Amino acid sequence: MSLLELHDVNVAYGRIQALRGITLSVEEGQIVSLIGANGAGKTTTMKTISGLLALQSGSMTYDGKDLTKVRADLRVRQGICQVPEGRGIFPGMTVLENLDMGGFVRSDRRSKEFSDDQERAFTYFPRLAERRNQVGGTLSGGEQQMLAIGRALMARPRLLLLDEPSMGLAPQFIQQIFRVIEEINKEGVTILLVEQNATQALGLAHQAYVLETGEVTRSGPGSELLADPTIQDAYLGVS
Ligand code: ATP
Repeated sequence: MSLLELHDVNVAYGRIQALRGITLSVEEGQIVSLIGANGAGKTTTMKTISGLLALQSGSMTYDGKDLTKVRADLRVRQGICQVPEGRGIFPGMTVLENLDMGGFVRSDRRSKEFSDDQERAFTYFPRLAERRNQVGGTLSGGEQQMLAIGRALMARPRLLLLDEPSMGLAPQFIQQIFRVIEEINKEGVTILLVEQNATQALGLAHQAYVLETGEVTRSGPGSELLADPTIQDAYLGVS
């Protein structure tokens, strides 16, 4: 049984059919990447999983149970945590306060484990440690992205949904973000990753799916898709 399974999922915005019969699965412990052009339906897929959008038809299970009727806030409590595109950190709060907010679902907020988890976020992202008392809104784009990931980890997710974590970042930050994604996964967090940066996304994916206009057109191990000439032509800027 996979941790997350979508079967023949359709989602629309009014008359715009954004997802057309999406079937995919995410195994516990894996990194699964979704790649595809702008408008292919990647963000829509993420929002459907996190509960921000409802299915028109199809099925979706998490840990073997129907997820479609579970409210979005309860999905967070069940371990599904999304880091949205565009980050969405709290600009008026300090780095430390933002991390605190990420742990709002936990009952152990005064415990040593909670502060240990905060320190772990600083180990992943040393730049945040230096800026722990700085307000989020004054951080650079890359630092805000790090904070958004650190904040999501404070909820102790079982399934982390990362939407375009490398978007708009300088190259040195991109490498760091992907390195940390692999580290987080090695510590046992399952990851569903949406990326425009297809080479990186396929490079670290155990399994990957290609979306085109709301449909899955290819799937396979990341390394297999990375080596495929048609994928290279279409998505990897290799000719
Ligand atoms: P991008 O990389 O540009 O974010 P994406 O693969 O994430 O692309 P989606 O954002 O999921 O694509 O969009 C899928 C389709 O749904 C597109 O045709 C898009 O125009 C449409 N769409 C997305 N959001 C809305 C919305 N709020 N209202 C109407 N149509 C929408």
